[in-house]
Amino acid sequence: MSTVCEKSICERAIIERAISERAIVERAMIDRTNALISKVKLRAWWLALSLICLPLEAAYAGYQTWSEVLTPTQGTSDAIGSYANGCLVGGKSLALSGDGYQVIRSNRNRYYGHTSMIRYLTDLANKTQRLGVGQLLVGDIAMPRGGRFTSGHTSHQTGLDADIWLRLPLAPLEANQLQDPTPYPVVDIKNYRFKEDKWTDNHSLLLQLAADDPRVARIFVHPLIKNKLCEQEWKQRDWLRKVRPWWGHYYHFHVRLNCPENSSECIEQAVPPKGDGCGAELASWRPTAKPKTAVDKPKVKVVKKSPPKQSKPTYPTCIALLSTP
Ligand SMILES: [Zn+2]
Repeated sequence: MSTVCEKSICERAIIERAISERAIVERAMIDRTNALISKVKLRAWWLALSLICLPLEAAYAGYQTWSEVLTPTQGTSDAIGSYANGCLVGGKSLALSGDGYQVIRSNRNRYYGHTSMIRYLTDLANKTQRLGVGQLLVGDIAMPRGGRFTSGHTSHQTGLDADIWLRLPLAPLEANQLQDPTPYPVVDIKNYRFKEDKWTDNHSLLLQLAADDPRVARIFVHPLIKNKLCEQEWKQRDWLRKVRPWWGHYYHFHVRLNCPENSSECIEQAVPPKGDGCGAELASWRPTAKPKTAVDKPKVKVVKKSPPKQSKPTYPTCIALLSTP
């Protein structure tokens, strides 16, 4: 095929190609300019957003974790948020020992609570002392400003949860025993068996006294402890409704108080179902026996979980609490 063309046709083709190439170059330039404008716009938005968020982020980012805050804030106690996501304004410390009780493992600095909890614990210890139940050993309550522990349970964040051990010494423990006391398990966990020989009437009385108080919302115990209480005869059984089965809790029990009055930011848990909770619900906690199979399944490698990361508090009051000296 001939590549030669007539002069006029060739010139027109050359001009058309030049126009078309210029159009392409111009379009490319427009595209590049638009992209540049978009980039500038995006940066401006990002800058504006950063300026808005900066004070909030700085309040948290530059600050310590809950366990690094060693002192409570002053003033009236206020429980903020829920038991498992909140904090404590105006936390009060429980004296490390008092009539009928001692604080154990005080080096963990978890003996702060809402005023309501501090009063509840000292009232309970007074009652149990009068009745000769034994010394109460008080474990974790909350950190000075509440928040999530770096180890152990996720609740205890608002100063309204406390652990009380089932070991009931007749005399106060020696100072050197208090930091690492020997637990008193009343359940054989491996065989899911209640240790009848470890349980005493004082344990039953203690749980009744602890639960039968209008300040209490719930008490958590191992299902076999709840079962033991259910089997016993009581003149009135209303308090049993508050005693809830939960795993763990076999050498200590966990007391949870209702939101105190005037705590507008405290989030209540729904009330327990009606009744004493001794029937089908309790039975549902019993582990089902695994059917024996001819071939053993390969063992699953247990991966140790790393400690939970410090999560950023949800409530502005809690964020502010971390940045208050
Ligand atoms: Zn607890």
